[in-house]
Amino acid sequence: MRYIFIAILICSGINLKAQEISIDNSDFFYQIAPIFEFKQSIVSLTFDDGSVNQFKIALPLLKEKRIPATFYVITNLVDSIIKRIILDNLSKDYEIGSHTVTHANLIKIGSEEAKRELLNSKSFLNHNFGINAGLTMSYPWGIYNNSVILLVKENYLAARSTGPGYNSLYKLDRYGLQAQGFDERTRPSRANSWVDYAIQNQLWLVEMIHGIDHVGYSPVDSKVLAEHLDYIKEVKDKVWCSTVSNVIKYLDESKNTDIKCENCNDTIYNIRINDFMDDSIYNQKLSIRIKVPANWDSIRISNSEKVRTEYFNESKFIIFNALPDNQLLTIRPGSISVPIKESGIRLVYLSANPFPDNLKLSLEVLDQRNIDIVLCDMNGKLLFHHEEKNAIGVINLFFNTQGISSGLYLLRIRSNGSDYIIKKLIKI
Ligand SMILES: [Zn+2]
Repeated sequence: MRYIFIAILICSGINLKAQEISIDNSDFFYQIAPIFEFKQSIVSLTFDDGSVNQFKIALPLLKEKRIPATFYVITNLVDSIIKRIILDNLSKDYEIGSHTVTHANLIKIGSEEAKRELLNSKSFLNHNFGINAGLTMSYPWGIYNNSVILLVKENYLAARSTGPGYNSLYKLDRYGLQAQGFDERTRPSRANSWVDYAIQNQLWLVEMIHGIDHVGYSPVDSKVLAEHLDYIKEVKDKVWCSTVSNVIKYLDESKNTDIKCENCNDTIYNIRINDFMDDSIYNQKLSIRIKVPANWDSIRISNSEKVRTEYFNESKFIIFNALPDNQLLTIRPGSISVPIKESGIRLVYLSANPFPDNLKLSLEVLDQRNIDIVLCDMNGKLLFHHEEKNAIGVINLFFNTQGISSGLYLLRIRSNGSDYIIKKLIKI
C-alpha cells in the first residue's frame, strides 16, 4: 500500500459543472419479486407431530445452520418441556403451526368435532405462542376432503397435505400443499434432488419430516438431515428457505402491494409501499426492484435492507427488502457520478460517500498507462494529487482528509490524458 499526501496545489485544467439530469415520474419503474430476493425456488421444511427430538435435536441443528422451519404440533402433546423450548426459540424463522388437538381423522369425526379440533388447537397456539403461531396447519394422516377444507379456511391461511408433489406458485393449492416426505430410508442425495427439481422448475418444495433419531414415526437420522441442510445452504443463492406461513404471507402481500412515488426527482426518491393488510400478521418483507438514475452511486435506502445493484443495458436498478407497511422510504445517492467510457482501468474500491477522515481508493490498471488522480474542491482548488507513469496492476491510495473542511469535493481519475471517472464526494 502506498500512502500519499501532497500539499494543496492549484488545480489547473479542471472545470466541471454538475451534470444536469432530468427524469420524470413516468420513468418510475418497479417490480415486486415473485420469490423473495428474486430467487428461483422456495424450500420449506416442516416437522409433524411435535415429537421431542424435533425440538431437542432438529431445532438446534436448524438454528446452527440458519435454516428456518415449521413445526406442526399436536397441541395435546405440547408438554411443559416442549413449551419451554418453543418459547425460548420463538422467532420469525421458526413457525409453530397446528396438527390439531388430538391428531384426529378430520373426515371421520364429523364436522362439529373437526371444527373444535381446528379452532381449539389454534387458540392454544395463539394463547401460548402469540398471533403468528397457528397460522397454517397440516392434516393429521394427510386426510381431508372439501368439507374439511371449508372448516380449515375459516381459521388458517394454508394447510399442508402429505403429498407427494411440488407446489406451483402460479396455480397454488394453498389448502392442499404437496410435500416430499422423509422416512428412515431417505438418503441426502434423494432429498437434495428434490431441491434441484424445485430450482429447475421454479417450484415451492415443502419437505415433511416426522421422527428424528429413533423417536417418532419414520425417524430420520439427524446426520442425514444435517447433510441435507448443508446442501440447502450451498444453493441458497437460488433457494428461498422459509416457513410455510412466511411464504404464504409473501405471496399474499406481493399481490396486494402498491408502490407510490411521492416526490421522485433526479436527486431523491420518496416512496411508499403498502399492502393494505393487517401489519400484525402480514409482516413479511417484500423484495423490490426499482430503477434509479444510472449516475447514482453508493445508493442508500431508509427503513429497508439493500440487497444489490443490477445493470441492464444502460439502466441501473436497486433491489431491496422492505415491509409493505406504508412507511415513507427514502432512496438517495451518496454521490452522483459522470460515467465515462471504460478504458483499461477499473475502480475496485472507493470509501463510502460521504467520507469522514480519510479517503481510500483502489484502482486496477489492466494494461500499462499513465494514471492521474486528483481531488479538488468545487472551486477547482487541488487537495491531493497522485500521478503514475506507465502504471500497471493495482494502485492503492489513502488520502488523509482530516485537515479539510466538510463540503463537496470532486475526484477525477484520468487515464492516458482522458477522463475515466469524475465523482462528486461529500466530506462530513
Ligand atoms: Zn401426524
